[in-house]
Formats: sequence, C-alpha cells, structure tokens
Amino acid sequence: MSRLIVVSNRVAVPQAGGKAAAGGLAVAVNAALKDRSGVWFGWSGRITEEPSDRPVVTNRNRIKYAVIDLKEADFQEYYNGFANRVLWPILHYRVDLAEFQRADLSGYVRVNRLFAEHVSKIIQPDDVIWVHDYHMMPLAKYLRERGHANRIGFFLHIPMPPPELIAALPRHGEILGSLAHYDLVGFQTESDRDNFGRYLSTRGGQAGADPNIFDIAGRQVRIGAFPVGIETEAFARRARHAGRTNYVRGFRRSLAGRKLIIGVDRLDYSKGIPHRLEAYEALLRTSPEWQDRVTFAQITPKSRIEVPEYIEMDRFLSHKAGQINGTFGDVSWTPLRYVNKTYSRSALAGFYRAADVAMVTPLRDGMNLVAKEFAAAQDPENPGVLVLSQFAGAAAELSGGALMVNPHETEGMAAALKRALDMPLDERRERHERMMAVLLRQDIDQWAESFIEALMPPAVKPVTAA
Ligand code: UDP
Repeated sequence: MSRLIVVSNRVAVPQAGGKAAAGGLAVAVNAALKDRSGVWFGWSGRITEEPSDRPVVTNRNRIKYAVIDLKEADFQEYYNGFANRVLWPILHYRVDLAEFQRADLSGYVRVNRLFAEHVSKIIQPDDVIWVHDYHMMPLAKYLRERGHANRIGFFLHIPMPPPELIAALPRHGEILGSLAHYDLVGFQTESDRDNFGRYLSTRGGQAGADPNIFDIAGRQVRIGAFPVGIETEAFARRARHAGRTNYVRGFRRSLAGRKLIIGVDRLDYSKGIPHRLEAYEALLRTSPEWQDRVTFAQITPKSRIEVPEYIEMDRFLSHKAGQINGTFGDVSWTPLRYVNKTYSRSALAGFYRAADVAMVTPLRDGMNLVAKEFAAAQDPENPGVLVLSQFAGAAAELSGGALMVNPHETEGMAAALKRALDMPLDERRERHERMMAVLLRQDIDQWAESFIEALMPPAVKPVTAA
C-alpha cells in the first residue's frame, strides 16, 4: 500500500508518551494518517542559523514526524512576511492590509524550494502527497521540477477570493497559478472552489465535461469542495465530561445565574471581534432589561504579535472592553470578560457547554471550527444557540440551525443576540438537531477519507476476458 506524506508549515510532534497534539490542523492530519502508514513533514517551530541538512525524525503513535528548523530570515520573510502579511490578508479579502515586499516573496519561494528538496529525499514513487495551506502553495511545482510524478494534493484551509481580488497580489501567477501542478486542489466551500475555477479560466484553463477538471499548461487538475469537520462524537463526549469538572462549575457559579454568551477567536482582524463587541454594546443599550442578566466571555489568545496590525487590534480591543465595562458595569457585574489566555480544547468544550449563546461572527473565515465545536458541545436536552456570520465557511453547512447574521450590521447582530437569548427550548432543540445531523455526517474522518479518495490514482480497471 502506498504511504501518505503530509506536508504543512508547522508540524506538531507530540511529547513522548503524550497524546497527539490538539490544534485544528493537527487533529485533521492525525485523522488522515490514523489508518495509514505515513510521514508528516514540516517546520519544527525552531529557528537556528545553521539548520541541519537532514530532518529530525520522531516515531510516535505509528506516525513518522520529520521536522526541520528555519533560519531567522526565512521566518521573517516566508512566514511573517509573505504568508502572514500578504497571502493571509488578500485571501481573507483584505487587500487593504497586504504589505507586499519582493524580499518576502523570495523568502517564500526559497523556503518552498527547501521543503521540496527535503520531501524529494523522503518520497517513493507510489507515495501519495498531501500538502496543506497557504504557506506551501508552490510546493508541487518544485517537486515536479525534480521529476516526481506522484499524486499530489493540496488543501487550502482559508478562503479563496474571486480572481478580481487575486489580481491585486503581485506575481500571483507564480504563486496561485502554481496550484495547477497539483492533481487535486481542495477548498472549504463550493464558493471558494468556484472562485478558483474562475481564476484558472483567466489563466487559460479549460474545463471539459466535468466543470471541476481543468486542462491547464499540459496538465489536468481537479478542484473540489471538502469542508473540514471536527471529531464530532469525541468532542461531544469531551464536553459532557468537561461540563462536570470543578473548573467549569466554578465558572458557571461565578455568573450568578446570568446567561452566558461566549466568543472564542484568535486575535485576528478576520474574526470581526470589534464588530461583535459593538453589537453586544448595542444590545445592552437598546434592551436594558438584559443588563445585569447576561455576561459575555470573549476568549481571545494573542497570535502573530510580530505583525503590526495585530498589535493595533490588541490595543483597540482592550480599550473597547474597558469602555463597555465602564459604561454598563456595576460593582457586582462585569458585562464583558475579555480574556487573552489560551485554553485547552477540553476546557473550551466545557465553556461551550456552559454557554447559552455563541457569537461566531468573522468578517471572513475559511471554515471556523469554533462554530462546529460549540454546536457539538451542547446538551441536546437544553442546547445553546449559535449566532453565525454568513461569511464563515461553516455557514454553508450550519445555516439550517444557526441564527445567521451579517457582521457588518450592528443592529442586526444585536437583534440576533436578543433573539438567541429569548429563544424557546423547542426551537433551540430543533436547530441543534439540524446542526448535529450535519456534523455527525461530515466529521473529520469523513473529510480526510473523501479528500484522499479523490486524490488516489483512478483505480486500474480489472482486465476482463474477451
Ligand atoms: N482553540 C484552543 N484554545 C483557545 C482558543 C482556540 O484550543 O484558547 C482552538 C479551537 O478549539 C479551535 C481552533 O483553536 O479548534 C481554532 O480554529 P478556527 O477554525 O475556529 O480558527 P483559526 O484560529 O484556525 O483561524
């Protein structure tokens, strides 16, 4: 059987004797590698000025982890620079925030070539290679240049904007155009897939009878939508358990009978946190009956603090939180608990279960796993309500059960919050059931299976006797 080689920017190598790492990508990659022999290759997260020319290999839980260190200049140009200050904003429709510099693009190309050099030494001819996310777009091109004809797939975890917007990226052909070197390119939603299909058409790609298979530059590339899921049943179990821990009980007690609204997002401009706080403020102002009867816990671990936009946002949010508490709070009531700590997914599962409402209102998000985790964590007998942005990838699957909002309309979001807080039990149950049906059907294992199945070489037809 062929091996599966997974390549991503960061590799989360579990501690000896420990469980697999629990980050979003780690859960997904572990689901893909679980029943196969395979290798996960990527950056160790360490920076050294003289990286070894061989990866450090660790075997854990039947998975082989192969990691390399990067140099400071690589980290600055490839990761902080091109990936996070150019690709991240543009692919999240924020062309205004992109800071393009040629040196960063060179660093991005250099690190992708370095990855290709290492991966090239690991792979065997019948291995299947699965590359993840925007850090690694041109990898297949460099592997092809080294003569590898393996099946290579790419999955983009973040959004794909329309071609008119991609046009704002200098030398986009070199980066996004190079995705045509994969056999399969997967996206979170059909709309992301279709945007990329239109981009391929602008570059001379021709779709045939199947509108998702393009002939371009002498190759065939298939595009598809594979919405990433969560480990639904395991997460629901974890939430049931976590909901009974002293920690979560203590949290619940501290609310003194008030309803709990929860928000969980990395500090990022794509998450729409300021818009959400405005909406909460509007609720407290226009529905004073909710004052002192509700608490909003916004959990926001800091991320990418080397990037200036994030520092500015951090300052703004702290100020805004202080303003809301100063205006509406009382000595015995803090309307908004704004927390910059990172919590384990188990603790989060307990918080979700304790909450009456979740506000998941990104301005743009590839999927948003928090939306799915919140829904999975609810008590089916007495579930909370998900308020969800139409611009989260998760909206395509959860709009039947969530209260859908446009994060650009403060009054609409405040009205949805009020409706969520007032929602009768029957309606909450019905909405929760609809979301759970989708989440159980389209879970993380199904996601990995369906992508790999689509990537595998077409089965050789058995020769039948004439
Ligand atoms: N998460 C976590 N601890 C925290 C905050 C978030 O483990 O303090 C996890 C969360 O449970 C989810 C992931 O981080 O699995 C965030 O994924 P999402 O798709 O919502 O957003 P991203 O950060 O990938 O843009």
